[in-house]
Amino acid sequence: MNSIKFKLFLYYCIISFTIFGVLGIFLYFSLENIVLESIDNALIAKAKAIATLINEDNGINLQFSDEIMKEYSKRSDQYFQIIQNSKIVEKSESLGSDSLPIVNSAQTIHFKNKPLRIVLYNITINKDHLVIECAQDIESKVDFLKTYLSILILSIAGAILLSALGGLFIVNIMLKPIKKISHTISKLSESNLFHSHIDENVVDELKPLAVSFNRTFERLDNAFTKQKQFVADVSHELKTPLSVILMETEIALRKQRSIQEYINTINQIKETSQHMKGIIETLFKLIKIENTQLLEKKTLDIKEIIQRSSALLKDQIEKRNLKFNIQGSTFLIDADETLIMEVFLNLIDNAIKYNKENGTIDIMIYPEKRVEIIDSGIGIPKDSLNRVFDKFYRADPSRSKEIEGLGLGFSLVKEILDLHNAKIEIDSTPNMGTKVSILF
Ligand code: ATP
Ligand code: MG
Repeated sequence: MNSIKFKLFLYYCIISFTIFGVLGIFLYFSLENIVLESIDNALIAKAKAIATLINEDNGINLQFSDEIMKEYSKRSDQYFQIIQNSKIVEKSESLGSDSLPIVNSAQTIHFKNKPLRIVLYNITINKDHLVIECAQDIESKVDFLKTYLSILILSIAGAILLSALGGLFIVNIMLKPIKKISHTISKLSESNLFHSHIDENVVDELKPLAVSFNRTFERLDNAFTKQKQFVADVSHELKTPLSVILMETEIALRKQRSIQEYINTINQIKETSQHMKGIIETLFKLIKIENTQLLEKKTLDIKEIIQRSSALLKDQIEKRNLKFNIQGSTFLIDADETLIMEVFLNLIDNAIKYNKENGTIDIMIYPEKRVEIIDSGIGIPKDSLNRVFDKFYRADPSRSKEIEGLGLGFSLVKEILDLHNAKIEIDSTPNMGTKVSILF
């Protein structure tokens, strides 16, 4: 009852019923009018013929010809009567002892259980006002109109039924693409998202729906795939340090060891556990950022943020004997202070870690709200450039073994910058250095 199909069908029926109904009524009354008009005209002609027989000299003494007598004879279904001063002064033989009712205008009356059409014709003779009433039995015409009405009603009913069926057919065709879309959606599950596709070759009105569903499928599929990949990566990353811990303890327990050997093992376990703790803490940060809806935004001085971040990393900079330099005049941004600090801590940390002894780190601040972090480090191989934002990705495994890291820094940075609608770009030449640009 509440379906589009039923409603469309109902509206279709109501509209076609109204249209055909009005058309039927119009057709019936038009024909009735035409029939009555032709009868009236014929009767008036007859009244006029009678009027010509009224002799001016003899007054209303009528001289009927044989023909007229025959026309209005006893058995005839045609009648007339002449009225003077509301009195019937002459009438046809066909009326016998009856008389026609005195009427004011042409009308249909019932006379001897039969429909009778009656018209008036006024004449004045010698200042005498006479009314000639002419009438005719119209039973056959009424029967004809009744038959016409029945045929009309049947035809209209048939037309309504046919058009309703046609409407149902059209509604079915129109709803087919919607049915198809809902069928595809009803069969959706996490595993077949990738293969789910709605045919976009549909009517114009449904095209945006199909396109946006397909986009949603794609996005959902991407999100599911990413999530699966993330879980797999996390498990893998945690498995390695856990295996190290297990191996170390097993070796240590195999036989009696010296105190120093136990101390070494415990230290190894401590270091590995710290690495695991680092992974888990960074993951928590990432998840927290991914779920952040409300940023604690305030106006920040970018130069001040960069200075504070680099101050926290001062020891590492000095340790590697790097020349650290900030250039350009500051600009203001509306951002979450802790998160933006996190961005610069990560990027400067990378510029330190992947630099060469006695290298340089230049931070350039441009008025178009752009910051560049340029280092003279080992650079990133070209084929790794577009993967550094992947979680746990570390370029060039041989060198990353020597440099500590989880491969999560860039993911974190990207996530935070996305939240602030800022862009990040990396430009790097192996063995020459790396330039990371941020556009707020
Ligand atoms: P962490 O999670 O501790 O930051 P990470 O530094 O290895 O670990 P990312 O900061 O995400 O992880 O960097 C990913 C990889 O990109 C690094 O492993 C490194 O190979 C490369 N990389 C990042 N910054 C630089 C840089 N300035 N110069 C050279 N390589 C870099
Ligand atoms: Mg890093």
